[in-house]
Amino acid sequence: MAAANKKNRGAKSKKTSSARKKATKSKRSSSTDMIVSAKESPAERKKRAGKILTVLKKLYPNADSALERTSALQLLIATILSAQSTDATVNKVTPVLFAGYPTANDLAAANPVDIEKMIKSTGFFRQKTKSIINACKVIVEKFGGRVPETIEELVQLPGVARKTANVVLGTWFGKNVGVVVDTHVGRLAYRLGLTWSSKDSKDAEKIEHDLMQIFPQKQWTFAGHSLIWHGRLVCQARKPKCEVCKLAKLCPSAFEF
Ligand code: SF4
Repeated sequence: MAAANKKNRGAKSKKTSSARKKATKSKRSSSTDMIVSAKESPAERKKRAGKILTVLKKLYPNADSALERTSALQLLIATILSAQSTDATVNKVTPVLFAGYPTANDLAAANPVDIEKMIKSTGFFRQKTKSIINACKVIVEKFGGRVPETIEELVQLPGVARKTANVVLGTWFGKNVGVVVDTHVGRLAYRLGLTWSSKDSKDAEKIEHDLMQIFPQKQWTFAGHSLIWHGRLVCQARKPKCEVCKLAKLCPSAFEF
């Protein structure tokens, strides 16, 4: 009798779990299959990218960098410091750093040991100190103490690659010359099927190239910032919150985690 009850309970629980799976499956198909087709053409992908942008605008109308700054130089230094760190950590360090070294001249002439102590909590502090001091030396010697406003000039600064240059140009100078691709944007571009020529989510150069093709140029800065916010708040690396994600209907990876 006890064995029969156990068997019945087992069968019941199997039934419940299979019903649950069925319900989830149907929820998945109703939320994804409608809009994302398996064999999406480039034109369809571009159209979907436009819809993604519309949703992002509703979600993050004022998407901006979380790095605190009051000048192009401060944003440049804060962006260098943000590599492999969090914006919150950088925001704790920069007020003290900028109070002690307010200009490019001051930073160019700084003692590396003093800067290293100040920025230690952001990680990779020796390399970052070198980049900051050397970038400021070039800003002083070659650009008269002012942060240059073109990508060609910015990437000449030590420690400054396209990502940092795009942040400064788009966020401070309001120039859409590229899309910022950090770890969040790389991951989201991949999950959202917005990149086709990259090998993985760390292939920043190719991902940026793809995003520049499917988003209108005047939206490049917004696209970067809003994807970063969505990556932080919803589409997190380990546990994306697909159940509450407003992009789920447009996302080929929805509920796959
Ligand atoms: S949270 Fe889920 S549905 Fe939303 S973008 Fe990320 S993977 Fe796609």
